[in-house]
Amino acid sequence: RGDFAHPVCLGVEVAGDGPPLPRTGGIDDSFFDSDGQMTKRPVRALTLSALAPRPGERLWDIGGGSGSVAIEWLLADPAMHAVSIEARADRARRIRANADRLGVDRLCVVEGRAPAALEGLKPPDAVFIGGGLTRALLDDLAGRLAAGTRLVANAVTLEGEALLADAQARLGGDLLRIDLAQAAPLGSRRGWRASYPIVQWRGVV
Ligand code: SAH
Repeated sequence: RGDFAHPVCLGVEVAGDGPPLPRTGGIDDSFFDSDGQMTKRPVRALTLSALAPRPGERLWDIGGGSGSVAIEWLLADPAMHAVSIEARADRARRIRANADRLGVDRLCVVEGRAPAALEGLKPPDAVFIGGGLTRALLDDLAGRLAAGTRLVANAVTLEGEALLADAQARLGGDLLRIDLAQAAPLGSRRGWRASYPIVQWRGVV
């Protein structure tokens, strides 16, 4: 900022007038427009940690929702690539808008259902399943992905959890149960409002 104040330095001091963007994974939920279907900040931070982005890598974000996971993956480094695959047209448009508003022009948004919509995409280094988790999707990915591709999946339903428990039994990796609670008003005082537990599987195909 100080350099731009010098008379010989030509340039804009601030490119936009939005709030400053933190560089850690798990930025505030308010940076993303959503219809409520979004991986919230604490779980997103744990998800990004499990995905472990390394410079230049490509992510498939299956069930993109608001695009928050793919956008944070891209923010990790200017050389990152990401594809967000989202079945609903309104959400696919929202992903594009969220990325554009945050200046992330490297996000490819595919409107369609996985696994069919994965056809023809460049192979990823890591895959996140935030929606559309089925045995058919897991089997498709196991056949499609190169050995060594990292896979992270979050489940909130008992059915999704059963799929991930089975995936760990077959493929190894680790299972994490994320039980979070946030302080909220309870009458005139405060209490812990529990979120649905999230089960996260992190493995390698
Ligand atoms: N991680 C997202 C939230 C995911 S919500 C975020 O942070 O915003 C799950 C999303 O998966 C929903 O938007 C739903 O439309 C989408 N979805 C469900 N099944 C799908 C499939 N087979 N292919 C692509 N998207 C799917």
